[in-house]
Amino acid sequence: MLDWYDAHARSLPWRLGPSPRRRRYPDPYRVWLSEIMLQQTTVATVIPYFAAFTKRWPDVGALAKAPLDDVLHAWQGLGYYARARNLHRCAKTVSAEHAGKFPESTDGLEALPGIGPYTAAAIAAIAFGRPATVVDGNVERVIARLFGITETLDKAKGQIRSLAAALTPDDRPGDYAQGLMDLGALVCRPRKPACGGCPLSASCVAFEKGLADELPRRAAKPARPVRRGFAYWAVRPDGAVLLRKRPAKGLLGGMMEVPSGVWRDGEIALSTADADAPFAADWRVLPGTVGHVFTHFRLEVTVLAARLEDGDGIGDGAVWCRPERLGDHALPTVMKKIAAHALANM
Ligand code: SF4
Repeated sequence: MLDWYDAHARSLPWRLGPSPRRRRYPDPYRVWLSEIMLQQTTVATVIPYFAAFTKRWPDVGALAKAPLDDVLHAWQGLGYYARARNLHRCAKTVSAEHAGKFPESTDGLEALPGIGPYTAAAIAAIAFGRPATVVDGNVERVIARLFGITETLDKAKGQIRSLAAALTPDDRPGDYAQGLMDLGALVCRPRKPACGGCPLSASCVAFEKGLADELPRRAAKPARPVRRGFAYWAVRPDGAVLLRKRPAKGLLGGMMEVPSGVWRDGEIALSTADADAPFAADWRVLPGTVGHVFTHFRLEVTVLAARLEDGDGIGDGAVWCRPERLGDHALPTVMKKIAAHALANM
């Protein structure tokens, strides 16, 4: 694996280049930042965000000093905003309680906000050379195929973990972990694995049995439930529209929104739209709906619009914004879709 990694490692901005790899470790701040960004997001999406963050906040102390709103704004488009809030909390904790240095052990890392067992193991191995076992989706797939595990992934997780732990070497565990991840991304791909170019093919059970494409097996997923709600596009005579901050806790907490009602399971009646509105106005239903998929549910939003005679007395935490300045605010993707829908249908 290490030979293969030395020859084929992906060149990524949070990694060291090949020549110094054996002698030193990458900056823990960059490893941590990349691992948090990579949760639920692809490498290609993360790269420009990583560049922007490290340019603006080159170390953990700089990030700790940044206002949360700036961090949320810079995070815009990466989704799962709880990660950005935890990222900021973690930077503050590392600065205030660890003198700006990340702990080296998995236990110490896991005690920090937003760092779970996987991320702790990845940082410990990659940034500190600790022999921690790093199991992400790519590694799960490689191990399941290598050992020919035919149980569904939900049942086989413990077994995969133990097998992965047994294989983790003391020598260059970080490079080994990244090697397995790269192998999963480049060779042992979810579909059509390139077994012909795989350094593990001689010992791979799935390859030997012709099962590579079928493994790992997954349990059937339950259908994603649908939630529905209303959003309210209020337009002032000068064309400015109303945005407000969502409560700090909960989904998209602390982000700006087009004022929205509660998202409810199942069908909702249009007759309930006035009860959810941020204030009484002549709300008009815009045609169509806005759809957005979250991890645990699909959201369908009906947008209502009203032209107001003035914008006085709208309430705390709300701002008026010219449509061309919407990009100045930390609007999550679903809110951008709602804004685009409203602008196209007014
Ligand atoms: Fe994956 Fe094929 Fe390599 Fe086995 S031989 S680990 S299935 S790429």
